[in-house]
Amino acid sequence: MIALARKYRPRQFSDLIAQDHVAAALRGAVAQGRVAHGYLFAGPRGVGKTTAARILAMALNCERRTSGEPCGTCESCLRISAGAANLDVVELDAASNRGVDDARDLRERAMYAASSEARSKVYIVDEAHMLTREAWNALLKILEEPPPRVVFVFATTEPQKIANTAAPILSRLQRFDFRRIGPQAIVERLRAVAGQEDLQTEDDALQLIARHADGGMRDALSLLDQVSSFGEGPVTAERVRTVLGLISDELYSEMLRCIVERDGAGVFRLVERLLETGADLSEFVGGAGETLRALLLVGVGGQPEGLTEGLLAVVRKYAPQLPPADIVRLLTILAEAEEPIRRSGNTRLAVEVLLLRWAMAGRTVELSQVLDALDKGTGDGGRGKGAPAGPVPLPPSPLPRDQGPLSLDHIRSAWPQIVADARARAPMLGSLLAEATAAGLEGRVLAVRPANAAHAEGLERQRDLIGQLVGAYVAEVPRVQVLSVTPERTPPARLTADLANAERLKALREKDPTLSAAVDALDLELLE
Ligand SMILES: [Zn+2]
Repeated sequence: MIALARKYRPRQFSDLIAQDHVAAALRGAVAQGRVAHGYLFAGPRGVGKTTAARILAMALNCERRTSGEPCGTCESCLRISAGAANLDVVELDAASNRGVDDARDLRERAMYAASSEARSKVYIVDEAHMLTREAWNALLKILEEPPPRVVFVFATTEPQKIANTAAPILSRLQRFDFRRIGPQAIVERLRAVAGQEDLQTEDDALQLIARHADGGMRDALSLLDQVSSFGEGPVTAERVRTVLGLISDELYSEMLRCIVERDGAGVFRLVERLLETGADLSEFVGGAGETLRALLLVGVGGQPEGLTEGLLAVVRKYAPQLPPADIVRLLTILAEAEEPIRRSGNTRLAVEVLLLRWAMAGRTVELSQVLDALDKGTGDGGRGKGAPAGPVPLPPSPLPRDQGPLSLDHIRSAWPQIVADARARAPMLGSLLAEATAAGLEGRVLAVRPANAAHAEGLERQRDLIGQLVGAYVAEVPRVQVLSVTPERTPPARLTADLANAERLKALREKDPTLSAAVDALDLELLE
């Protein structure tokens, strides 16, 4: 059986997928007889650079060419397409032929080619960024006085390196940038090939293959080959996962659940399951990043490509609970964690820490509520400054303060203004006071009742400031006492992110001794 990748290699410019701009330019150049002597084809691997160079050779030599497009079926076209030994196309891999001797040899052969029959010859130098400076110098001489009917195509995944080592040569090359092929385009191509091969395939299976091929059409076809030759019957998603060692959608779903529900203990179970199924944890992290990216895309109104139906359903389910700002935060944490995970001798622990950081990351839902509350309270609001305010000067109040006797009634009536003052000075404190009440006054001691246990700590820390704020409205500055409140089970919506994390972490530690030990060992509270 001929490998699918070779069998379905494009034979015309119009077959090139996602490279219409290149196809049109080359077709036009051939049709008008204005083919350059040197081209630089830049782009990721597997997107058709070498194939385009071969089609160019076919087009230049095809006897049945129409409008610059080779017929793809004549003897000449088939010979070039098959890559059989022929004089029209010489493929060199710079990764293995990088010495100056090879370049000299190439030069001699190029000169010789010129004197042969009236056919055009295309030299394809693959991985061209691997050529040495000396080799480039030799090639530069050829390109300065190019033999007739000889075309050089330099293909590279790293054009920048050529710019560094061989800048003068770039000015003699026409550059084409090949695009990455999107997963949907790959899936469509795979489906067409499967149809022609009478190969039954599940759509999800093709999605998985496309995702794994990462933009490379040739890789995708090779993978389809590999998977279809393994076992009998239709190519299912399950089979693709088994053959390629992919991680099931369900585990990514579980990961998102742990994040959304802030289930730290669940993180440990998830990693355990990943290891049980023999998953590569680095691959899991890569997939996790892609899943978050898909969530982000959905969150901003886009359409993610290359997901299986199953994973797409998971992403849609969790997208409303993870707003884009949160996902950006999670992705930032991922970016910080990737290198340590790669270097870590204990990948398991590194991945657990990453997932825990995700599960405990601050959330915009809470912060934005606080910020909204601030916006209502004050004009400037101190947006973005989430930290508790230090001793900053009290901003001049636009309204004259209604100073009265030190009485509970008076404090209660002035409370909205006190809250507004607090917001102007210490936004977080303002939010806490807005929900708190003046509960009692005994002598100079003002009792403040927080909305809940989580708020108590924040108020407690700023007792003196509260006293000063209240003192602006009464004859004497009171001493503030924060009343204790029975802890609630769920943190209230208006909780600040820091408090929510602390609260959550405390609850989790009580629930799970393993986590508690890990938190101590890793000093997790410092992570946020
Ligand atoms: Zn032909």
